[in-house]
Amino acid sequence: MGDEPNKGGIPHPSVFVEKRRLELIKGYVVHESRTPSKQVRVVTPSQTVGPFFPAALVGPGEDDLACKVPGGARALGTPIVVSGQVFDEAGKPVRGALVEVWQANKWGKYEHPVDQTPEPIDPNFKGYGRMLTDAEGRYRFRSIKPGAYPNPGYDNWMRPPHIHYSIFGAGVMQRLITQVYFPREALNDIDPILNGVEDLDARASLIARELPAQHAGFDAETLAFGFDIVLRGSGETPFFVDP
Ligand code: FE
Repeated sequence: MGDEPNKGGIPHPSVFVEKRRLELIKGYVVHESRTPSKQVRVVTPSQTVGPFFPAALVGPGEDDLACKVPGGARALGTPIVVSGQVFDEAGKPVRGALVEVWQANKWGKYEHPVDQTPEPIDPNFKGYGRMLTDAEGRYRFRSIKPGAYPNPGYDNWMRPPHIHYSIFGAGVMQRLITQVYFPREALNDIDPILNGVEDLDARASLIARELPAQHAGFDAETLAFGFDIVLRGSGETPFFVDP
């Protein structure tokens, strides 16, 4: 059966060597340039966001991924609270940054039409949220710990539990995308996306810190994690970027 052709699937990135492998991992999915080779229209130039990025974009309850209605029934799974600070390259907190997060439910299922895995959808799990950082650059959200899931294509390797992040705000010209992982997860060690970050310190910075349970401010079952984000400089958080 070893000679059976791969039924149209993309081989796991580990079968590729060095640069080709990293290109595949860093791209995560096939990348297409925003600029066509034959230009038919003038590309709209980027301009600064300016200082007045609207704070009113975020409404109440949007920092809770584990219920669909504020105060409503909660999603199944281990409750978690993730908090942290956003810093600029000088180590100064970034206030008013828009932090958006999304993740799979406790069974590793996204409520998204592209997710065709057979795992159940949790009717009480929203799975996405957003918040603005305060004057100290702090953000905080409630959720449940996401499950691992098979990555479609790439021979369905199991992605470790993770939360997707997008950061945007005044002074940021292009939103920054990354993923945060959980400590002591065996799948972290073999995940090509996490391990595609070559710098070991940078890679380690994507693993959330375990915080004392009381940090969560809820019951003893709620796990607390910390994840700080550095927008640029020598300690910057690894982000996915256009090649
Ligand atoms: Fe994911």
